[in-house]
Amino acid sequence: MHQVTLAGLTVDTRHVIGGERVASTETFESVSPIDGATLAHVARGGSAEVNRAVEAARAAFPAWRDLGAEGRREILHRLADLVERDLEQLANLETLDNGSLLRSHRRGVMPRVAMNLRFFADWAVEKLHHPVWQTRGHDNVVSWDPSGVAALITPWNAPLMLATWKIGPALAAGDTVVLKPAEWTPLSASYFADLADEAGVPAGVFNVVQGFGAEAGAALVAHPGIARISFTGSVPTAKAIARSAADNLTPVSFELGGKSPLIVTDDADLDLAVELAVEQYDNAGQVCLSGTRLLVHENIAEAFQARFAEKAQQLRQGDPREEATQIGPQIHRVHLERIQGFVERATADGARVVIGGGPNDELGGLYFRPTLIADAKPGSEILTAEVFGPVLAVQTFASDDDAVELANNTEFGLAAVVVCGNRERAERLTKNLVAGTIWVNCFFVRDLAAPFGGSKKSGIGREGGTWSFDFYADVKNTVYAPTGWKD
Ligand code: NAD
Repeated sequence: MHQVTLAGLTVDTRHVIGGERVASTETFESVSPIDGATLAHVARGGSAEVNRAVEAARAAFPAWRDLGAEGRREILHRLADLVERDLEQLANLETLDNGSLLRSHRRGVMPRVAMNLRFFADWAVEKLHHPVWQTRGHDNVVSWDPSGVAALITPWNAPLMLATWKIGPALAAGDTVVLKPAEWTPLSASYFADLADEAGVPAGVFNVVQGFGAEAGAALVAHPGIARISFTGSVPTAKAIARSAADNLTPVSFELGGKSPLIVTDDADLDLAVELAVEQYDNAGQVCLSGTRLLVHENIAEAFQARFAEKAQQLRQGDPREEATQIGPQIHRVHLERIQGFVERATADGARVVIGGGPNDELGGLYFRPTLIADAKPGSEILTAEVFGPVLAVQTFASDDDAVELANNTEFGLAAVVVCGNRERAERLTKNLVAGTIWVNCFFVRDLAAPFGGSKKSGIGREGGTWSFDFYADVKNTVYAPTGWKD
């Protein structure tokens, strides 16, 4: 009942609290987006399990803190080794649970899971400099001290990758962790907890409470015993979390949604522009960073759109386990219907479907055709709200100033893509764009040392490199006087 064998792995679907597997009286189903099969019945936690997990994490904190960055590095590298040992099975498990392409889990996502652990473990030892400077002969010594229990809440679109993007720095910083994975994709975190145990992460240092956002998630973020809340997910959930966090003044880090622009200037390499635009359908459009608003110079708009439509329609949609597949299913029936609703409201509001526009009837299930919308009214929902599916909208502009104005005309500020033939022109454009990450003539080049996060409603704070430690640690300045020493 509590254990299921999937993709060659035995997955225990109970919570992990203080090194023990803990059941709940109720369970929820994890269903595969590939074919609707029930994969597992997962423990449905609430405040009782959260309280126990936070207590366990608090009890484990002093020893983990005192182990020091080098001791923690050794364990985190062992954990990364185990992720690499089981990489093939983990990739298969994640694909079953969230429907993303197996080949990207194999070649990109799971290697990055291991990298998230190694990178931050190393950074804490080698790169977290402790600067010293003088003020009137006094030494200022800066240190990053472990802060306590970090509550980590993660979404379903890249479950283990986004979880370890938080787990890596939190554990490396010396915090202990309670993770609440997304209820649509609970399984990889459950298995990862076994790997943590095998790697020698002490009991209580890494805890997992499974369950729904409104139950386990809400109880976790309201708990007065946590020192940090790191959340990746949607804006409405972030608002609810912020309200809870306010009661305890718990610091929050939010990585939220986007409605990012992809700007194509009239001197751009058109082949590159089309290629990068089609990439925005990756992961069936379920990527926070997607450039979902294609802003194209009017001189090249017709040529761009024709080539884009041709290429997008060639994308191979189907079973994400097949090597040739380029677009898999959406995560869940509820989500598919949400995406469909956006398209229906856009057309009812006068917009035109250029390609796609609905589910792929040949495949059935949760497959939604890559969609391009044109002629949407300025300010309309399809140009302003995050769809989080394979739905892009195209608009044209006449000058670079117009492009910037259109690009910034959103409540989000997560990312932007600029395709441009001239470096100085690109620099003028990027200078005025409001976004946490901008890619010029490229997409998705990510360095874990670089700051990552969103402006405006796309987030609060930055993660990556030292920025992650600035969040998970208590940054401390100690001032030593030049006088008063007896030795
Ligand atoms: P979501 O906000 O619905 O859920 C995210 C997590 O929050 C889940 O684990 C959920 O159970 C939990 N949750 C829900 N209600 C809660 C509450 N009241 N208290 C505490 N926890 C609660 O988001 P989602 O649908 O899972 O993910 C999609 C969203 O995530 C999109 O908006 C996407 O852009 C965003 N996202 C952002 C990034 C980024 O790095 N900026 C990365 C991936 C996804």
